[in-house]
Amino acid sequence: MWSLFEDESVKIKWEGKIISIQPRTRVWRYLTSNRTHYHIGYNIFVAGKCDEGLEVFCVAISEKQHLKSDFRIGDVVSGTGWTKKYSNREFADFYRAGSLKIHKKCKPAEDSECPWTGRMPLMDVYEYRGARMLAKSMWNGKCFTCYYAAMANVEIQWDFDRDVKKYRFESFCYGPKSCKNYKPGRSRAVPYKGGKSALDDGNLDEMLTDHRDFDD
Ligand code: SF4
Repeated sequence: MWSLFEDESVKIKWEGKIISIQPRTRVWRYLTSNRTHYHIGYNIFVAGKCDEGLEVFCVAISEKQHLKSDFRIGDVVSGTGWTKKYSNREFADFYRAGSLKIHKKCKPAEDSECPWTGRMPLMDVYEYRGARMLAKSMWNGKCFTCYYAAMANVEIQWDFDRDVKKYRFESFCYGPKSCKNYKPGRSRAVPYKGGKSALDDGNLDEMLTDHRDFDD
């Protein structure tokens, strides 16, 4: 998709129960020569209500906001947010969250086995771990509540000289390679102007996570 779809951004109110928290990431792709992951905060998925009429929605928050409130699955929360200016660049429904309030606090779940739902890792932990491609069906299913799952805002450098980018969303996993839920899904095409798309078939995953052992 192209970057021309600009919407008016408006401030809204929302409230509800957290059903998942994941890292919010941005990924820059250039053919298969580069896949850089930036870790920019968290996406909290909420079942509740908001001014836009959604019953399940995603709110982007900063690491600082998370550190202050230590959000967990099950917490009942409310806040404000802004609708997206570029719907093809931002996965979260609302960003620039504010006035965050916790109405009911849950105990953190024990980290026993996947999906991991205990206390959220900080950004430098994700940065250190590196990500592998995760099948979207797993992200939507068994992995949805796992704090190692992420739906990234992806920028594809489609024309280097004129700095033209394409945008899409892609699912990734930061979890142990031994996780029984892991499925990479299909190879991902990375287009470039005037040529055949390159295929990200898992080689970049190996490169980005080869410092981790199978169970790490
Ligand atoms: S595959 Fe990854 S995201 Fe899914 S449960 Fe395992 S560690 Fe979590």
